[in-house]
Amino acid sequence: MSHQPLTSPRVVQEILARHGLRPNKQLGQNFLVDENILKKIIAAAELGPEDTVLEIGPGIGVLTGPLAEVARQVIAVEIDKGLIPVLEENLAAYPNVKIIWGDILKVEQGELLAAATTPFKVVANLPYYITSPVIMALLTGPLPLERLVLMVQREVARRLTAAPGSKDYGVLSVAVQYYTQPEMVAQVPRTVFYPRPDVDSAVVLLKMRPSPAVVVGDEALFFRLVRGAFGQRRKTLLNSLRGEFGGQYSREELVSFLQAAGIDPSRRGETLTLEEFAALARIISNKGREDTATGAKV
Ligand code: SAM
Repeated sequence: MSHQPLTSPRVVQEILARHGLRPNKQLGQNFLVDENILKKIIAAAELGPEDTVLEIGPGIGVLTGPLAEVARQVIAVEIDKGLIPVLEENLAAYPNVKIIWGDILKVEQGELLAAATTPFKVVANLPYYITSPVIMALLTGPLPLERLVLMVQREVARRLTAAPGSKDYGVLSVAVQYYTQPEMVAQVPRTVFYPRPDVDSAVVLLKMRPSPAVVVGDEALFFRLVRGAFGQRRKTLLNSLRGEFGGQYSREELVSFLQAAGIDPSRRGETLTLEEFAALARIISNKGREDTATGAKV
């Protein structure tokens, strides 16, 4: 086991220098150097000896070691092969860590699935340039996730947990709240990273729901509706829907769908709750099915 405190900025600098490395800004390399925040992340994961952890971007291994101490196995995906000697050194004591060298957005999740025998918990201090695509790929992918504990930009954390009508509420809020119950775990100042990023961060816990928060009928239609509703935030919902579904349904039909869902057509899309989006999706998908059954043009 490495006895160096990887949460010390001086130690991180020394390790990088010894290996001839510099933090790579493009890869979002802001290393966590705070023991207290590290403990909060590990605690939120509620790890037990049966758990498999997927870590995205282990960096120099500050989280990986403590995760491996408690979990059954850690699968860590790291894009920067320059870190190979560093991780070999810092994780030498943990045979239960498997590192996959590659881009998390390109690694086949099936490969990760094959490497694990138990449900997954995801723990990551995410590289911020790919936060939303990583979250969406994981939530819609095949891995049997139980929870995700993620360090993200504070502004993204607000979006993940935002309520309808607030300025942070958007497609990402609806998608994440559809699949998970998000919770803010800790506000994290920029001072706990080396090098220091330009923005503050937060740790969020996304607990997977056993089934999605609402019954939508047709998931693709539900997300199309959500994207349409947020696409032009200053328009009324009716006008946004006309933009998205105008080629398919007349204005009168769209008004009747909204009325059937109990939604005032003059509301703005960003005020709709998940339940309201779902009700509207069910109504439109039923209508689509009726049209198909009667041979009407849809
Ligand atoms: N876990 C370490 C920590 O907390 O100090 C490092 C976190 S740092 C914010 C993000 C890490 O993700 C870096 O090690 C970076 O090289 C890695 N990374 C960046 N893009 C990646 C990608 N597309 N796939 C996998 N890892 C990536």
